[in-house]
Amino acid sequence: MVKRVVISGAGIGGLATALSCAKQGFDVTVLEQAKEIKEVGAGLQMSPNAMKVLQALDVSERLASVSFSPEYAGIRHYQTGAYFLKSPLGEAAVHRYDAPYWHLHRADLISVLYQACLENQVDIKLNTQVTGYQNQPKQVEVQTNQGKITADILVGADGIKSTTRQAMKGEEAVEFTGQVAWRGTINTKQHPDLHIPPEACVWAGPAKHLVTYYLRGGDLINFVAVEEKADWQHENWRQEGDINTLRASFSGWHPTVTKLLEACDESFIWALNSRPQLDSWRDGRVVLLGDACHPMLPFMAQGAAMAIEDAYVLSKSLKEHGDDIGLNHYQDARIPRTRAIQAMSKSNTSLFHMHGGAVGALRLNAVRLATRFMPSVANTKLDPVYGYDATKV
Ligand SMILES: Cc1cc2nc3c(=O)[nH]c(=O)nc-3n(C[C@H](O)[C@H](O)[C@H](O)COP(=O)(O)OP(=O)(O)OC[C@H]3O[C@@H](n4cnc5c(N)ncnc54)[C@H](O)[C@@H]3O)c2cc1C
Repeated sequence: MVKRVVISGAGIGGLATALSCAKQGFDVTVLEQAKEIKEVGAGLQMSPNAMKVLQALDVSERLASVSFSPEYAGIRHYQTGAYFLKSPLGEAAVHRYDAPYWHLHRADLISVLYQACLENQVDIKLNTQVTGYQNQPKQVEVQTNQGKITADILVGADGIKSTTRQAMKGEEAVEFTGQVAWRGTINTKQHPDLHIPPEACVWAGPAKHLVTYYLRGGDLINFVAVEEKADWQHENWRQEGDINTLRASFSGWHPTVTKLLEACDESFIWALNSRPQLDSWRDGRVVLLGDACHPMLPFMAQGAAMAIEDAYVLSKSLKEHGDDIGLNHYQDARIPRTRAIQAMSKSNTSLFHMHGGAVGALRLNAVRLATRFMPSVANTKLDPVYGYDATKV
């Protein structure tokens, strides 16, 4: 029987798992290496599949006041601005998937999850870095820079550079995907002339794309600019980027994009890295979750959504099936799902980046024609992603 769950990492995956496990009645401790709980100043698209879990965890009402509900998902030509795709979200998403499609600031989501964890008696220990573990017959010993603690289950939700994964699988080289992402936010009140439509929009161009969307009821515009780079060498994948380099890289794009980048004062850049896929996420009483076991390119906006789905499925599996069968049930449910989304995310690279020159542009035009004359084409791709309900697995 599971009583005590220890989680390595207080990111979105770790906190969602802590809350979900606490609501199932487990005694939960989260170990976070950082000295405070905080997130980068950037946005997240939270699709209905993730929102269903946040609703089940009773945090969606608190998020409502800081959310933004986009009217459409769009894909536009990088120079002309012509739409290849304009698919309704807003009320249409709620109607179709029984949950909203929201944009959230990462700091807001982390703060709401953190508060809810405290209210549900989760013990969160900061400045505590997990360094390894030792499986024992009836418990697991978790090793940290502050000493050892024991648990029935250790969850490694410690991100793409997961120590838990390394302890489980050994040293693995990081895989650079050949792409870097720049991120920034812009205060709309200070820049009323930007005229960004109220949509989740991908501006698609050769070997790069840029995504725009609003946060916090429209107070902020968030952008993610992705470009292919063969020569990225930095192991440190999160650093301030030179805004002029970013502007130069997107010069000649549609005025909506270039004006947006002119309005931005600072941007952060990091490499989009990956890890090899794993056939198993568990070792005895230890299991992986979120980016620790399935990092993905952000081109379906599903990385955090998958960690949130994992959290619910794991806690429910442990409650219903106990430790051994529960952990197997969790990974059997989650490995195929996350692999499918990893593959979809990767395949969007060639679509968004017009790979193949004229052929790439033709593919986007085919999307335009297909979705114009048969709007259900977009649903065929998105229904399995957004329609999934992790609370029913
Ligand atoms: C450009 C970009 C845009 C994205 N947009 C979206 C989007 O719109 N929608 C979406 O769903 N996803 C998006 N994602 C993906 C999403 O950001 C990640 O999938 C998600 O944040 C992963 O959460 P996590 O909790 O698994 O890991 P992390 O957020 O990396 O958290 C790991 C935590 O573990 C801690 N930690 C690490 N090692 C240790 C240790 N040894 N001991 C203790 N603590 C430790 C870290 O300090 C951190 O707090 C995007 C990603 C990128 C790069």
